[in-house]
Amino acid sequence: MYNPKSLKAEEFISDEEIRDTLAYADANKDNIELIDSILEKAKERKGLSHREASVLLACEDEKKVQEMYTLAEQIKKDFYGNRIVMFAPLYLSNYCINGCVYCPYHIKNQHIARKKLTQEEIVKEVTALQDMGHKRLALEAGEDPKNNPIEYILECIKTIYSIKHKNGAIRRVNVNIAATTVEEYRMLKEAGIGTYILFQETYNKKSYEELHPYGPKSNYAYHTEAMDRAMEGGIDDVGLGVLFGLELYRYEFAGLLMHAEHLEAVHGVGPHTISVPRLKRADDIDPDTFDNGIDDETFAKICALIRISVPYTGMIISTRESQAVREKVIKLGVSQISGASKTSVGGYCEEEPEEENSEQFDVSDKRTLDEVVKWLMEMGYIPSFCTACYREGRTGDRFMSLCKSGQIQNCCHPNALMTLKEYLIDYASEDTRKIGEALIEAELGNIPKEKVKEICKENLLKIEQGIRDFRF
Ligand code: SAM
Repeated sequence: MYNPKSLKAEEFISDEEIRDTLAYADANKDNIELIDSILEKAKERKGLSHREASVLLACEDEKKVQEMYTLAEQIKKDFYGNRIVMFAPLYLSNYCINGCVYCPYHIKNQHIARKKLTQEEIVKEVTALQDMGHKRLALEAGEDPKNNPIEYILECIKTIYSIKHKNGAIRRVNVNIAATTVEEYRMLKEAGIGTYILFQETYNKKSYEELHPYGPKSNYAYHTEAMDRAMEGGIDDVGLGVLFGLELYRYEFAGLLMHAEHLEAVHGVGPHTISVPRLKRADDIDPDTFDNGIDDETFAKICALIRISVPYTGMIISTRESQAVREKVIKLGVSQISGASKTSVGGYCEEEPEEENSEQFDVSDKRTLDEVVKWLMEMGYIPSFCTACYREGRTGDRFMSLCKSGQIQNCCHPNALMTLKEYLIDYASEDTRKIGEALIEAELGNIPKEKVKEICKENLLKIEQGIRDFRF
Protein backbone atom coordinates (compact mmCIF):
# COMPACT_ATOMS: atom_id res chain seq x y z
CA MET A 1 0.00 0.00 0.00
CA TYR A 2 2.81 2.44 0.86
CA ASN A 3 3.61 4.60 -2.12
CA PRO A 4 5.34 7.99 -1.72
CA LYS A 5 4.26 8.92 -5.26
CA SER A 6 0.59 8.29 -4.64
CA LEU A 7 -1.73 11.27 -4.27
CA LYS A 8 -3.85 9.42 -1.71
CA ALA A 9 -3.13 10.36 1.91
CA GLU A 10 -3.39 6.82 3.21
CA GLU A 11 -0.87 5.60 0.65
CA PHE A 12 1.85 8.25 1.03
CA ILE A 13 1.39 8.38 4.82
CA SER A 14 0.86 4.66 5.25
CA ASP A 15 0.04 3.65 8.83
CA GLU A 16 1.48 0.22 8.14
CA GLU A 17 4.76 1.69 6.89
CA ILE A 18 5.02 3.91 9.97
CA ARG A 19 4.40 0.95 12.28
CA ASP A 20 6.97 -1.16 10.42
CA THR A 21 9.40 1.75 10.62
CA LEU A 22 8.93 2.05 14.39
CA ALA A 23 9.40 -1.69 14.83
CA TYR A 24 12.55 -1.56 12.66
CA ALA A 25 13.82 1.41 14.69
CA ASP A 26 13.17 -0.42 17.98
CA ALA A 27 14.89 -3.54 16.75
CA ASN A 28 17.94 -1.53 15.70
CA LYS A 29 18.18 1.15 18.36
CA ASP A 30 21.29 -0.50 19.84
CA ASN A 31 22.73 -1.62 16.50
CA ILE A 32 25.78 0.64 16.63
CA GLU A 33 27.09 -0.59 13.29
CA LEU A 34 23.86 0.43 11.55
CA ILE A 35 23.70 3.71 13.48
CA ASP A 36 27.25 4.54 12.46
CA SER A 37 26.46 3.83 8.82
CA ILE A 38 23.38 6.09 8.99
CA LEU A 39 25.46 8.85 10.58
CA GLU A 40 28.05 8.41 7.82
CA LYS A 41 25.34 8.80 5.22
CA ALA A 42 24.00 11.89 7.02
CA LYS A 43 27.45 13.45 6.80
CA GLU A 44 27.05 13.51 3.00
CA ARG A 45 24.38 16.16 3.69
CA LYS A 46 21.88 14.66 1.28
CA GLY A 47 19.37 13.80 3.97
CA LEU A 48 18.02 10.58 5.43
CA SER A 49 14.95 8.46 4.80
CA HIS A 50 12.20 8.24 7.43
CA ARG A 51 13.44 4.74 8.32
CA GLU A 52 17.04 5.80 8.83
CA ALA A 53 16.07 8.89 10.78
CA SER A 54 13.69 6.85 12.96
CA VAL A 55 16.52 4.52 13.97
CA LEU A 56 18.51 7.55 15.13
CA LEU A 57 15.51 8.87 17.03
CA ALA A 58 15.09 5.53 18.82
CA CYS A 59 18.79 5.28 19.70
CA GLU A 60 19.50 6.28 23.30
CA ASP A 61 23.24 5.69 23.36
CA GLU A 62 24.59 8.93 24.83
CA LYS A 63 27.71 9.02 22.70
CA LYS A 64 25.75 8.49 19.49
CA VAL A 65 23.15 11.09 20.47
CA GLN A 66 25.97 13.55 21.03
CA GLU A 67 27.29 12.73 17.55
CA MET A 68 23.84 13.48 16.14
CA TYR A 69 23.84 16.89 17.87
CA THR A 70 27.32 17.72 16.64
CA LEU A 71 26.40 16.79 13.09
CA ALA A 72 23.15 18.79 13.23
CA GLU A 73 25.08 21.84 14.42
CA GLN A 74 27.59 21.43 11.62
CA ILE A 75 24.92 21.00 8.93
CA LYS A 76 23.09 24.02 10.31
CA LYS A 77 26.27 26.09 10.02
CA ASP A 78 27.07 24.82 6.51
CA PHE A 79 23.61 25.46 5.09
CA TYR A 80 22.32 28.44 7.03
CA GLY A 81 25.49 30.07 8.36
CA ASN A 82 24.65 32.13 11.44
CA ARG A 83 21.57 33.80 9.97
CA ILE A 84 18.20 33.61 11.69
CA VAL A 85 15.19 34.86 9.76
CA MET A 86 12.65 36.85 11.79
CA PHE A 87 8.87 36.92 11.45
CA ALA A 88 5.68 37.58 13.40
CA PRO A 89 2.24 35.97 13.27
CA LEU A 90 -0.78 38.16 12.61
CA TYR A 91 -4.12 36.78 13.78
CA LEU A 92 -6.86 37.98 11.45
CA SER A 93 -9.87 36.21 12.91
CA ASN A 94 -10.58 33.54 15.50
CA TYR A 95 -14.02 32.63 14.19
CA CYS A 96 -13.92 28.91 13.54
CA ILE A 97 -16.43 26.15 12.83
CA ASN A 98 -14.09 23.24 13.57
CA GLY A 99 -13.98 21.10 16.66
CA CYS A 100 -10.19 20.68 17.19
CA VAL A 101 -10.06 19.48 20.79
CA TYR A 102 -6.65 21.07 21.48
CA CYS A 103 -7.49 24.53 20.14
CA PRO A 104 -9.49 27.15 22.06
CA TYR A 105 -10.98 28.46 18.81
CA HIS A 106 -13.20 25.36 18.51
CA ILE A 107 -16.80 26.30 17.76
CA LYS A 108 -18.20 25.13 21.09
CA ASN A 109 -16.02 27.49 23.10
CA GLN A 110 -18.55 30.09 24.26
CA HIS A 111 -16.05 31.61 26.62
CA ILE A 112 -13.43 33.01 24.28
CA ALA A 113 -13.99 36.45 22.72
CA ARG A 114 -14.57 36.14 18.96
CA LYS A 115 -12.88 38.81 16.92
CA LYS A 116 -12.19 39.51 13.27
CA LEU A 117 -10.05 42.42 12.13
CA THR A 118 -11.56 45.02 9.85
CA GLN A 119 -9.31 46.49 7.14
CA GLU A 120 -8.89 49.60 9.32
CA GLU A 121 -7.81 47.44 12.22
CA ILE A 122 -5.36 45.61 9.97
CA VAL A 123 -3.78 48.93 9.07
CA LYS A 124 -3.30 49.61 12.79
CA GLU A 125 -1.93 46.15 13.57
CA VAL A 126 0.46 46.18 10.62
CA THR A 127 1.61 49.69 11.43
CA ALA A 128 2.43 48.50 14.96
CA LEU A 129 4.32 45.51 13.52
CA GLN A 130 6.21 47.74 11.08
CA ASP A 131 7.10 50.06 13.95
CA MET A 132 8.76 47.13 15.70
CA GLY A 133 10.75 46.39 12.53
CA HIS A 134 8.97 43.33 11.16
CA LYS A 135 9.05 42.71 7.41
CA ARG A 136 7.63 39.19 7.24
CA LEU A 137 4.28 37.99 8.57
CA ALA A 138 2.47 34.69 8.95
CA LEU A 139 -1.28 35.24 8.69
CA GLU A 140 -3.41 33.09 10.97
CA ALA A 141 -7.15 32.54 10.87
CA GLY A 142 -9.73 30.05 12.02
CA GLU A 143 -11.79 28.17 9.43
CA ASP A 144 -15.15 29.77 8.86
CA PRO A 145 -16.44 30.13 5.30
CA LYS A 146 -19.00 32.77 6.38
CA ASN A 147 -16.77 34.96 8.54
CA ASN A 148 -13.37 34.29 6.97
CA PRO A 149 -14.01 33.43 3.30
CA ILE A 150 -11.08 33.47 0.89
CA GLU A 151 -12.17 36.91 -0.32
CA TYR A 152 -11.60 38.25 3.20
CA ILE A 153 -8.13 36.69 3.39
CA LEU A 154 -7.25 38.09 -0.06
CA GLU A 155 -8.46 41.54 0.91
CA CYS A 156 -6.32 41.41 4.07
CA ILE A 157 -3.24 40.43 2.05
CA LYS A 158 -3.84 43.32 -0.34
CA THR A 159 -4.24 45.75 2.54
CA ILE A 160 -1.09 44.47 4.27
CA TYR A 161 1.09 44.81 1.18
CA SER A 162 -0.22 48.34 0.58
CA ILE A 163 0.72 49.76 3.99
CA LYS A 164 3.83 51.90 3.80
CA HIS A 165 4.46 53.60 7.10
CA LYS A 166 7.68 55.60 7.58
CA ASN A 167 10.41 53.27 6.26
CA GLY A 168 8.34 50.21 7.06
CA ALA A 169 6.83 47.63 4.74
CA ILE A 170 5.69 44.06 4.96
CA ARG A 171 7.57 42.40 2.14
CA ARG A 172 6.50 38.81 2.57
CA VAL A 173 3.14 37.49 3.72
CA ASN A 174 3.02 33.79 4.54
CA VAL A 175 -0.36 32.26 5.14
CA ASN A 176 -1.50 29.66 7.66
CA ILE A 177 -5.15 29.00 6.91
CA ALA A 178 -7.22 25.86 6.71
CA ALA A 179 -6.88 23.35 3.89
CA THR A 180 -8.70 24.56 0.80
CA THR A 181 -9.26 23.99 -2.92
CA VAL A 182 -6.79 24.25 -5.82
CA GLU A 183 -8.72 27.26 -7.06
CA GLU A 184 -8.33 29.10 -3.75
CA TYR A 185 -4.66 28.20 -3.53
CA ARG A 186 -4.25 29.72 -6.97
CA MET A 187 -5.89 32.92 -5.69
CA LEU A 188 -3.46 33.02 -2.77
CA LYS A 189 -0.55 32.56 -5.14
CA GLU A 190 -1.82 35.40 -7.31
CA ALA A 191 -2.15 37.60 -4.23
CA GLY A 192 1.61 37.22 -3.79
CA ILE A 193 1.91 35.02 -0.74
CA GLY A 194 5.23 33.53 0.27
CA THR A 195 4.85 30.17 1.96
CA TYR A 196 1.58 28.36 2.49
CA ILE A 197 1.79 26.80 5.93
CA LEU A 198 -0.51 24.08 7.20
CA PHE A 199 0.19 21.94 10.22
CA GLN A 200 -0.84 18.34 9.92
CA GLU A 201 -1.40 18.31 13.71
CA THR A 202 -1.07 14.51 13.69
CA TYR A 203 -0.28 11.98 10.98
CA ASN A 204 -2.12 9.22 12.82
CA LYS A 205 -5.47 8.97 11.05
CA LYS A 206 -7.33 7.42 13.97
CA SER A 207 -6.09 10.05 16.42
CA TYR A 208 -6.66 12.76 13.84
CA GLU A 209 -10.33 11.79 13.61
CA GLU A 210 -10.70 11.77 17.39
CA LEU A 211 -8.97 15.12 17.75
CA HIS A 212 -11.09 16.68 14.98
CA PRO A 213 -14.53 15.25 15.69
CA TYR A 214 -16.52 17.57 13.41
CA GLY A 215 -16.20 20.48 10.99
CA PRO A 216 -14.43 20.55 7.62
CA LYS A 217 -11.06 19.84 9.23
CA SER A 218 -12.31 16.41 10.38
CA ASN A 219 -11.61 15.05 6.87
CA TYR A 220 -8.15 13.50 7.29
CA ALA A 221 -7.52 12.87 3.61
CA TYR A 222 -8.58 16.37 2.54
CA HIS A 223 -6.27 17.90 5.15
CA THR A 224 -3.32 15.60 4.45
CA GLU A 225 -3.54 16.09 0.68
CA ALA A 226 -3.73 19.90 1.00
CA MET A 227 -0.09 20.52 0.09
CA ASP A 228 -0.54 18.66 -3.20
CA ARG A 229 -3.48 20.90 -4.04
CA ALA A 230 -1.48 23.98 -2.98
CA MET A 231 1.31 22.94 -5.33
CA GLU A 232 -1.16 22.23 -8.10
CA GLY A 233 -2.45 25.77 -7.55
CA GLY A 234 1.05 27.13 -8.18
CA ILE A 235 2.31 27.60 -4.62
CA ASP A 236 5.73 26.00 -4.55
CA ASP A 237 6.84 26.98 -1.06
CA VAL A 238 4.85 24.97 1.45
CA GLY A 239 5.43 24.62 5.19
CA LEU A 240 4.73 21.40 7.10
CA GLY A 241 4.32 20.94 10.84
CA VAL A 242 3.13 18.60 13.54
CA LEU A 243 1.60 19.70 16.83
CA PHE A 244 3.79 17.74 19.23
CA GLY A 245 1.92 16.48 22.26
CA LEU A 246 -1.10 15.03 20.47
CA GLU A 247 0.30 11.66 19.40
CA LEU A 248 3.42 9.55 19.95
CA TYR A 249 6.30 11.70 18.82
CA ARG A 250 8.08 8.86 17.03
CA TYR A 251 4.98 8.22 14.93
CA GLU A 252 4.73 11.92 14.05
CA PHE A 253 8.40 12.18 13.21
CA ALA A 254 8.21 9.31 10.72
CA GLY A 255 4.99 10.75 9.25
CA LEU A 256 6.50 14.19 8.86
CA LEU A 257 9.50 12.85 6.97
CA MET A 258 7.26 10.66 4.82
CA HIS A 259 5.27 13.75 3.91
CA ALA A 260 8.49 15.53 2.91
CA GLU A 261 9.55 12.50 0.85
CA HIS A 262 6.14 12.46 -0.82
CA LEU A 263 6.38 16.13 -1.88
CA GLU A 264 9.85 15.52 -3.25
CA ALA A 265 8.71 12.38 -5.12
CA VAL A 266 5.62 13.99 -6.67
CA HIS A 267 6.59 17.63 -7.14
CA GLY A 268 10.37 17.38 -7.31
CA VAL A 269 10.75 19.72 -4.35
CA GLY A 270 10.39 19.09 -0.65
CA PRO A 271 8.80 21.39 1.93
CA HIS A 272 10.22 24.90 2.22
CA THR A 273 9.88 24.83 6.00
CA ILE A 274 8.99 22.53 8.85
CA SER A 275 7.47 23.95 12.05
CA VAL A 276 7.76 22.20 15.38
CA PRO A 277 4.99 23.59 17.62
CA ARG A 278 4.30 21.96 20.98
CA LEU A 279 0.87 21.95 22.57
CA LYS A 280 0.36 24.85 24.99
CA ARG A 281 -2.08 25.94 27.64
CA ALA A 282 -4.89 28.07 26.20
CA ASP A 283 -8.31 29.42 27.16
CA ASP A 284 -10.19 26.15 27.77
CA ILE A 285 -7.29 23.84 26.89
CA ASP A 286 -5.18 22.09 29.52
CA PRO A 287 -2.14 20.43 27.88
CA ASP A 288 -1.88 18.06 30.87
CA THR A 289 -5.02 16.29 29.71
CA PHE A 290 -3.11 15.08 26.64
CA ASP A 291 -0.88 12.05 27.13
CA ASN A 292 1.89 12.60 24.64
CA GLY A 293 3.76 15.69 25.78
CA ILE A 294 7.50 15.58 25.16
CA ASP A 295 10.27 16.91 27.38
CA ASP A 296 12.80 19.51 26.24
CA GLU A 297 15.54 16.95 25.61
CA THR A 298 13.36 14.85 23.29
CA PHE A 299 12.23 18.04 21.59
CA ALA A 300 15.85 19.06 20.97
CA LYS A 301 16.63 15.62 19.57
CA ILE A 302 13.70 15.87 17.15
CA CYS A 303 14.92 19.28 15.96
CA ALA A 304 18.47 17.99 15.48
CA LEU A 305 17.23 14.98 13.52
CA ILE A 306 14.97 17.05 11.29
CA ARG A 307 18.03 19.17 10.51
CA ILE A 308 20.06 16.09 9.58
CA SER A 309 17.24 14.41 7.64
CA VAL A 310 16.13 17.35 5.47
CA PRO A 311 19.12 19.71 5.35
CA TYR A 312 17.59 22.04 2.75
CA THR A 313 14.33 22.60 4.62
CA GLY A 314 14.10 25.65 6.87
CA MET A 315 12.95 25.00 10.41
CA ILE A 316 10.67 27.34 12.35
CA ILE A 317 10.27 27.82 16.08
CA SER A 318 7.65 30.10 17.58
CA THR A 319 7.28 31.94 20.87
CA ARG A 320 5.43 28.89 22.20
CA GLU A 321 8.91 27.98 23.39
CA SER A 322 10.89 29.72 26.12
CA GLN A 323 14.08 31.67 25.58
CA ALA A 324 16.11 28.74 26.95
CA VAL A 325 14.55 26.13 24.65
CA ARG A 326 14.85 28.46 21.66
CA GLU A 327 18.51 28.99 22.43
CA LYS A 328 19.12 25.26 22.42
CA VAL A 329 17.29 24.42 19.20
CA ILE A 330 18.51 27.41 17.19
CA LYS A 331 21.96 25.91 17.58
CA LEU A 332 20.73 22.49 16.46
CA GLY A 333 18.99 23.54 13.30
CA VAL A 334 16.24 26.15 13.55
CA SER A 335 16.55 28.82 10.85
CA GLN A 336 13.48 31.01 11.44
CA ILE A 337 11.98 32.38 14.64
CA SER A 338 9.13 34.69 15.56
CA GLY A 339 9.65 37.61 17.89
CA ALA A 340 7.33 39.71 20.08
CA SER A 341 4.35 37.63 18.94
CA LYS A 342 0.78 38.12 20.00
CA THR A 343 -1.62 35.25 19.47
CA SER A 344 -4.73 37.34 20.04
CA VAL A 345 -6.77 39.07 17.35
CA GLY A 346 -5.77 42.74 17.46
CA GLY A 347 -3.12 42.16 20.13
CA TYR A 348 -0.37 44.30 18.65
CA CYS A 349 -2.30 47.53 19.13
CA GLU A 350 -3.99 46.96 22.41
CA GLU A 351 -3.52 44.83 25.49
CA GLU A 352 -6.69 42.73 25.84
CA PRO A 353 -8.67 42.96 29.08
CA GLU A 354 -8.89 39.53 30.80
CA GLU A 355 -12.60 39.14 30.04
CA GLU A 356 -12.02 39.72 26.34
CA ASN A 357 -9.34 37.13 25.77
CA SER A 358 -9.01 36.00 22.12
CA GLU A 359 -5.59 34.35 22.38
CA GLN A 360 -4.88 31.05 20.67
CA PHE A 361 -2.34 29.89 23.23
CA ASP A 362 -0.01 31.19 25.94
CA VAL A 363 3.26 32.59 24.67
CA SER A 364 6.41 31.60 26.61
CA ASP A 365 8.89 34.02 25.09
CA LYS A 366 7.38 37.44 25.79
CA ARG A 367 10.39 39.61 24.94
CA THR A 368 10.25 42.60 22.62
CA LEU A 369 11.67 42.29 19.10
CA ASP A 370 14.57 44.54 20.09
CA GLU A 371 15.39 42.21 22.98
CA VAL A 372 15.23 39.15 20.75
CA VAL A 373 17.42 40.78 18.09
CA LYS A 374 19.99 41.81 20.70
CA TRP A 375 19.96 38.36 22.30
CA LEU A 376 20.57 36.69 18.91
CA MET A 377 23.46 39.00 18.10
CA GLU A 378 25.04 38.48 21.51
CA MET A 379 25.07 34.76 20.72
CA GLY A 380 26.79 35.49 17.38
CA TYR A 381 23.74 35.12 15.10
CA ILE A 382 22.67 37.58 12.43
CA PRO A 383 18.95 38.40 12.74
CA SER A 384 17.79 38.62 9.14
CA PHE A 385 14.74 40.50 7.90
CA CYS A 386 15.41 39.31 4.38
CA THR A 387 12.52 38.52 2.05
CA ALA A 388 14.50 38.53 -1.19
CA CYS A 389 14.09 34.98 -2.45
CA TYR A 390 10.45 34.87 -3.31
CA ARG A 391 10.48 38.47 -4.55
CA GLU A 392 13.27 37.46 -6.94
CA GLY A 393 11.33 34.38 -8.00
CA ARG A 394 13.62 32.02 -6.10
CA THR A 395 10.91 29.71 -4.85
CA GLY A 396 10.49 25.94 -4.89
CA ASP A 397 13.25 24.14 -6.75
CA ARG A 398 14.92 27.45 -7.71
CA PHE A 399 15.47 28.16 -4.03
CA MET A 400 16.74 24.63 -3.54
CA SER A 401 19.21 25.11 -6.43
CA LEU A 402 20.53 28.21 -4.68
CA CYS A 403 21.10 26.15 -1.53
CA LYS A 404 22.74 23.35 -3.47
CA SER A 405 24.96 25.70 -5.51
CA GLY A 406 26.77 26.86 -2.37
CA GLN A 407 26.03 30.49 -3.34
CA ILE A 408 24.04 31.24 -0.19
CA GLN A 409 27.01 33.05 1.37
CA ASN A 410 27.04 35.43 -1.61
CA CYS A 411 23.32 36.00 -1.53
CA CYS A 412 21.54 35.35 1.78
CA HIS A 413 24.46 36.58 3.85
CA PRO A 414 24.71 40.11 2.35
CA ASN A 415 20.90 40.28 2.26
CA ALA A 416 20.82 39.50 5.98
CA LEU A 417 23.38 42.21 6.69
CA MET A 418 21.55 44.84 4.63
CA THR A 419 18.16 44.12 6.20
CA LEU A 420 19.70 44.07 9.67
CA LYS A 421 21.21 47.47 8.91
CA GLU A 422 17.74 48.80 8.05
CA TYR A 423 16.46 47.43 11.32
CA LEU A 424 19.28 48.99 13.32
CA ILE A 425 18.77 52.43 11.82
CA ASP A 426 15.00 52.48 11.82
CA TYR A 427 13.97 50.57 14.94
CA ALA A 428 16.76 49.44 17.26
CA SER A 429 17.59 50.77 20.71
CA GLU A 430 20.96 52.41 21.20
CA ASP A 431 22.50 49.30 22.76
CA THR A 432 21.22 46.94 20.09
CA ARG A 433 22.42 49.29 17.36
CA LYS A 434 25.95 49.36 18.71
CA ILE A 435 26.18 45.57 18.87
CA GLY A 436 24.64 45.28 15.41
CA GLU A 437 26.98 47.76 13.73
CA ALA A 438 29.99 45.86 15.06
CA LEU A 439 28.48 42.57 13.93
CA ILE A 440 27.84 43.85 10.40
CA GLU A 441 31.40 45.16 10.17
CA ALA A 442 32.80 41.78 11.19
CA GLU A 443 30.42 39.76 9.02
CA LEU A 444 31.23 41.70 5.85
CA GLY A 445 34.47 39.74 5.89
CA ASN A 446 32.49 36.53 5.47
CA ILE A 447 31.13 37.41 2.02
CA PRO A 448 33.30 35.30 -0.31
CA LYS A 449 32.96 37.23 -3.59
CA GLU A 450 34.83 40.55 -3.63
CA LYS A 451 32.37 42.13 -6.05
CA VAL A 452 29.37 41.19 -3.88
CA LYS A 453 31.16 42.51 -0.80
CA GLU A 454 31.75 45.87 -2.52
CA ILE A 455 28.14 46.20 -3.61
CA CYS A 456 26.99 45.27 -0.13
CA LYS A 457 29.23 47.95 1.42
CA GLU A 458 27.90 50.57 -1.00
CA ASN A 459 24.33 49.57 -0.18
CA LEU A 460 24.99 49.78 3.56
CA LEU A 461 26.10 53.38 3.04
CA LYS A 462 23.01 54.11 0.97
CA ILE A 463 20.86 52.68 3.76
CA GLU A 464 22.50 55.19 6.12
CA GLN A 465 21.47 57.89 3.65
CA GLY A 466 17.85 56.77 3.83
CA ILE A 467 17.46 54.46 0.82
CA ARG A 468 15.79 51.10 1.56
CA ASP A 469 15.14 47.64 0.19
CA PHE A 470 18.34 46.44 -1.45
CA ARG A 471 18.68 42.78 -2.28
CA PHE A 472 20.69 40.21 -4.15
N1 SAM B 1 -7.27 27.15 11.27
C1 SAM B 1 -6.15 26.85 10.47
C2 SAM B 1 -5.88 25.37 10.49
O1 SAM B 1 -6.75 24.67 10.99
O2 SAM B 1 -4.90 24.90 10.00
C3 SAM B 1 -5.04 27.75 10.85
C4 SAM B 1 -4.09 27.33 11.89
S1 SAM B 1 -4.15 27.80 13.56
C5 SAM B 1 -4.54 29.47 13.57
C6 SAM B 1 -2.46 27.63 13.86
C7 SAM B 1 -1.98 26.39 14.52
O3 SAM B 1 -1.95 26.60 15.92
C8 SAM B 1 -2.76 25.12 14.38
O4 SAM B 1 -2.49 24.48 13.18
C9 SAM B 1 -2.33 24.30 15.59
O5 SAM B 1 -1.29 23.41 15.28
C10 SAM B 1 -1.79 25.35 16.54
N2 SAM B 1 -2.49 25.30 17.83
C11 SAM B 1 -3.80 25.19 18.06
N3 SAM B 1 -4.05 25.10 19.38
C12 SAM B 1 -2.86 25.15 20.01
C13 SAM B 1 -2.45 25.07 21.38
N4 SAM B 1 -3.31 24.93 22.37
N5 SAM B 1 -1.12 25.12 21.65
C14 SAM B 1 -0.21 25.26 20.67
N6 SAM B 1 -0.54 25.36 19.36
C15 SAM B 1 -1.84 25.28 19.02
